[in-house]
Amino acid sequence: MAPKPRIAVIGAGPAGLMAAETAARENCAVTICDAMPSPARKFLMAGRSGLNITHSEPFERFVARYGPAADWLRPMLKSFSPTDMREFCEALGVGTFVGTSGRVFPTAMKASPLLRAWLARLATLGVELRTRTRLVDFDGGAPIVETNGRRETIAADATVLALGGASWPRLGSDGGWARLLEQRGVALAPFRPSNCGLDIAWSEPFRQKFEGLPIKTARFRHAGKSVAGEAVITRSGLEGGPVYALSAEVAATLREKGSAAIMIDLKPDMSESALAARLAQRRGKDSFANSLRKAIGLSPVAVGLLRESDTQVATRDPAALATLVKTCALSVVATAGLERAISSAGGVLREALDDGLMLRKTPGLFVAGEMLDWDAPTGGYLLQASIATGRWAGAAAANHARGINIAG
Ligand SMILES: Cc1cc2nc3c(=O)[nH]c(=O)nc-3n(C[C@H](O)[C@H](O)[C@H](O)COP(=O)(O)OP(=O)(O)OC[C@H]3O[C@@H](n4cnc5c(N)ncnc54)[C@H](O)[C@@H]3O)c2cc1C
Repeated sequence: MAPKPRIAVIGAGPAGLMAAETAARENCAVTICDAMPSPARKFLMAGRSGLNITHSEPFERFVARYGPAADWLRPMLKSFSPTDMREFCEALGVGTFVGTSGRVFPTAMKASPLLRAWLARLATLGVELRTRTRLVDFDGGAPIVETNGRRETIAADATVLALGGASWPRLGSDGGWARLLEQRGVALAPFRPSNCGLDIAWSEPFRQKFEGLPIKTARFRHAGKSVAGEAVITRSGLEGGPVYALSAEVAATLREKGSAAIMIDLKPDMSESALAARLAQRRGKDSFANSLRKAIGLSPVAVGLLRESDTQVATRDPAALATLVKTCALSVVATAGLERAISSAGGVLREALDDGLMLRKTPGLFVAGEMLDWDAPTGGYLLQASIATGRWAGAAAANHARGINIAG
């Protein structure tokens, strides 16, 4: 019997695990290497906020979320669609549900059961997982790795690189691979933080009282863009879906003008005039915060935000107060850097790759996941594209290893 083609996958995040599974199902002998002591740390971290695994909106609207990369990714997302993602989870014994705004989550709202079942299935497919094994160089197309100071070239007929982007480097994806690929003449777009929190210089009393608490059902605005949802007060500013969605625009304003502010509508379901009318009926004996709670149902966090926006807020008349509730302005000091961003934009450019995600300059070397130069908002799009591109690259690598070339 002819020996099985050998596939090396470097990076055991969701893209690498899917590449490994796909190649193993194509009857290849697969070895995955990861620099960290355990696999998929960012995936597990994503699980701490519920693991938004994909989105249920119609396919074309879904694909459009990838902006300029939509056409590039469309065939891969078609081949492993959001529906396939849900079936993939179900097959691993993890049910999913559609939450508010169409986002899809595993019923357990965490990543560990899914990862455990996935790793067990990979083991039954014969996939070998080597941890604490870092890619340090290449010998032609073959990866050179280092384990506990010992260097070795992995013998492989094809290799999939799934080393992640450059956000949250302490979870393993530190973007160190960029230098290795640049040295080989691969065209890369520089990394930029994407979907990141906003740094706000909270007053000490506000921080002490409200750190960790949510701003619920508000609408956040910047530069003509408006996003409704929930954000969380952190030590250094704000985190959460609506904030991530505005972060690129806020970063651009900071770059262009040197300062930026976001506006929060703390009562999006009430008009300014209705608010002013209710606020005019407040009773003098209540404290400021209590009077706002009773008149318009404002939470203590929201009242705190008003005070952060305008230190004289308690002296304002009902009309000015209503305006402030609708347009509570907060100065943004900075957007969070790569070390705290949910994802990174930039990476390997489309033109550096063929249709099978193989590097044109290095036959046999494939790239998948967040290493690629696409970007998307939060909402399940990041994991969907990471896993879909992992599957695509895994299949193309298996074909390459067998001497089949389907890509252009
Ligand atoms: C806090 C947080 C929450 C998130 N929540 C969500 C969410 O709810 N939904 C969603 O869609 N996305 C979410 N994401 C994004 C999502 O986790 C990533 O887009 C996804 O993990 C990228 O997958 P990947 O396999 O391409 O890379 P990664 O998951 O980053 O995996 C890359 C792997 O490569 C390894 N590696 C790197 N360099 C080397 C090297 N030189 N040698 C060997 N191994 C190496 C790393 O250790 C790592 O295991 C979240 C991210 C964060 C940080």
